[in-house]
Amino acid sequence: MTTPTAFRLFKQVPRILFGRGALDRLGELLPAQGWTACVVDAVHREGPIPARLAAHDVEVFWFDAAHEPSTDQVDAMAALVRAARAEGPSAILGLGGGAAMDVAKGVSVMLTNPGSASDYQGWDLVPHPAVFKLGVPSLAGSGAEASRTAVFFSGDRKFGINSDHSMFDAILLDPELLAGVPADQRFHSGMDCFIHCVEAVTGTMASPLAHAHAGKALELCEAVFLGEGSDDDLMVASYMGGCSIVNSEVGVAHALSYGLSLELGLRHGLANCIAFDALDAFYGAHVETFRRMMARHAIVLPRGVTRGMDRPAIARMVAMALRMERPLVNALGEDWRAVLTPERIEALYARM
Ligand code: NAD
Ligand code: ZN
Repeated sequence: MTTPTAFRLFKQVPRILFGRGALDRLGELLPAQGWTACVVDAVHREGPIPARLAAHDVEVFWFDAAHEPSTDQVDAMAALVRAARAEGPSAILGLGGGAAMDVAKGVSVMLTNPGSASDYQGWDLVPHPAVFKLGVPSLAGSGAEASRTAVFFSGDRKFGINSDHSMFDAILLDPELLAGVPADQRFHSGMDCFIHCVEAVTGTMASPLAHAHAGKALELCEAVFLGEGSDDDLMVASYMGGCSIVNSEVGVAHALSYGLSLELGLRHGLANCIAFDALDAFYGAHVETFRRMMARHAIVLPRGVTRGMDRPAIARMVAMALRMERPLVNALGEDWRAVLTPERIEALYARM
């Protein structure tokens, strides 16, 4: 494969600790001085995680992941962290799914940058380096542990802060943390990874680097969801899927799924599954593989989710999709507007 263009300069997470029980070695990744503000998914309030974190100098800030996070929540969490101790934290730790990890990324940015997190949604808008941050996924698929993105609702949009400063400085990948994830959630988040990789390898922006990461992650996803792959494989797939997106972009499924989350409050993984299932025209054979995975895991998607939505709501979803310019250039090339017209987007939503 030849490289079409030198895409851009990439940063990657510089330090990674992988393995079962790795959480007990957290101290190896934390700065030697100062305290750590831990943004932890509230699903872990009961159970062993709080005591394991308490072995270090930490304050825990619970994040309720019942809904996808907003920039207001990031600003509020950053204010709580600032108020917790006279001296600011030397590290931010994000433990949970993509939502909790993204909030941790956002808080680390807001501790060193003025204004609101909503000021930095877009590409490369964060001026100052953030506080050191460490990601610990307890759900696999989003790839938030590897990506430079932190995705938040604000007003009428769902959009990412995309900056080298919103990427983790270290990640701890402990497959034991996936043990209690409900089967549906495991599948939906796992498919987020599968779809990231399909969008990366089929896109116009994909470099050989993106192909290498996404190709391996797709192989691992198929092993996990069609074969005998383990949680260890799923955790590696999620990480490599995140790396593939750093080196490429998402595509049509993500462009359409954001509107579903915005208007219907559907979680990201589920919204992606619903969108992807309507995209045979764009991702043909991959959609067939996805359906075999669903059948194997007895996953039933809700049908007719857009039925009964009023005109303004549909118009907002279409507008949201049309805002996803970079993913759509990646998926369909510079002339994407000729292929994905507002009418076609509406027709695709009608199939979901
Ligand atoms: P999530 O973080 O939204 O969590 C989904 C549910 O799983 C929540 O109820 C959460 O409490 C629960 N959960 C988490 N860990 C668990 C565990 N160990 N056991 C039981 N339940 C657990 O889900 P996700 O799929 O990981 O992430 C989706 C979020 O990440 C969305 O907000 C999406 O926008 C964002 N995202 C970010 C990126 C990125 O690159 N930054 C990429 C994709 C998605
Ligand atoms: Zn995604």
